[in-house]
Amino acid sequence: MTALRKTKIIATLGPATGSPEKIRELILAGAHIFRLNMSHAPHDWACEMVAAIRAAATELQTNVATLVDLQGPSIRTGDVDGKIPLTKGDTVEFRNAGLTPASPVSITTNYDKLHEDVSVDDVMLVDNGEIHFRIKQIEEGRLTCEVLTDGLMGSRRHINLPGIRVNLPPLTEKDMLDIRLAAELDVDFIAISFVRDAEHISCLREQLQQRDCNARIIAKIEDQEALKHLAGIILESDAVMVARGDLGIEVHIEELPIVQRTIVKECARLGRKVIVATHMLESMIESPVPTRAEVTDVANAVYEQADAVMVSGETSVGHYPVKCIEILDRIAKRMEREPGAGFSAAIELDNEKQFTVKSAVVLANSLENSKLVIFTARGVLANYAAHQRPLKADIFAFCPDDRVVRALLMNRGVTPFQMEFADHPEDSIRNALEFLKERNLIETGDSVVILSDVLNRDFDTEAILLRKA
Ligand code: PEP
Repeated sequence: MTALRKTKIIATLGPATGSPEKIRELILAGAHIFRLNMSHAPHDWACEMVAAIRAAATELQTNVATLVDLQGPSIRTGDVDGKIPLTKGDTVEFRNAGLTPASPVSITTNYDKLHEDVSVDDVMLVDNGEIHFRIKQIEEGRLTCEVLTDGLMGSRRHINLPGIRVNLPPLTEKDMLDIRLAAELDVDFIAISFVRDAEHISCLREQLQQRDCNARIIAKIEDQEALKHLAGIILESDAVMVARGDLGIEVHIEELPIVQRTIVKECARLGRKVIVATHMLESMIESPVPTRAEVTDVANAVYEQADAVMVSGETSVGHYPVKCIEILDRIAKRMEREPGAGFSAAIELDNEKQFTVKSAVVLANSLENSKLVIFTARGVLANYAAHQRPLKADIFAFCPDDRVVRALLMNRGVTPFQMEFADHPEDSIRNALEFLKERNLIETGDSVVILSDVLNRDFDTEAILLRKA
């Protein structure tokens, strides 16, 4: 019987993979979702990629989802000539773009209110956390800083302010244009960067509703402000990303594993999908084999029973993108044979549907060679079942709406299929079981726990049935 991987894989597209052939290879290697990082993706390229992803999925007769990752409100330095060498103890000015320099080394930023958000003695990290500055003096539109670490300052470098709440708007003008594009392209997921509280998610949801866009929202947890409002953000989102790139700068690095586990556990408790992202196989950008530490890190995310793992540079600019997906696939499949962390035992259930699903999951857990087959119109039952993390049973979700099918691709352990429901429930069940048998996904004699709230067209009723395949 075909062994399915439960953990989903998100691959970022870029120059290394932006062709129909590479997309096809990544799907065959096991990628379920393709991410377009709008910090680097021009609109015409994004349109081309979404068309290529859909064409490849149709050709391979499989389901693949698309994810647009918004750049969000990041603070950046302006242009400088070449690279400015900085030495510990030097003085550097950061100023608003409209002002004239008042110091021999003066660099502009794109955030005019920076001086209002920071205090003297705050530490500012620039260029992926590589160059550290201490703020010594604050004036209207200017900060005078002392260099704390040697480094080379290039143009348009990202500024992090660990522990400081910046009052940037949740969505920039660029984000609004990218949201419009995402809605036009009808993508499946939109990730919002530098979320600071639940209201930022509502703001994006409102924008999507205005455009009749059904994309599911992924909140990227990237700083301490988001951690302060974690439960609210999780509840307002469809999925959450542990965005370890920025998080690793915004929190002390030794805190990062604790922060990851806290976010994963909170998502398990509150019943939301969670993605572990960034630096999973970073060395494979250059090398055909991962480090032992990377293998262990991926295995840890699988042990934590994250819904998905995500690669960025590894597939967008790396030399071994397909190999990366194959490696993720191998680690995940192996690790899934071991018991997982079981954080979902703490899940908070509060409606009847969730308790019905719990009964089905308990039943599947207590039977040998069991499978869960779910008929779901909006994906709700399948989401609930995935969040309860059945011990072994694969979840096969059947639904008529292909958008719902693609949204379910983010759930751990769910393999979704598009299928119209028949007029009679028994016909739908028979069709689904035959479909799964033909694909070698269930075997004669397997215990199949069937869960549905849509089999009976005349009234909304939840049903659990037990069948032998
Ligand atoms: C991250 O910071 O880990 C991340 C995924 O965000 P981005 O790649 O957009 O910086």
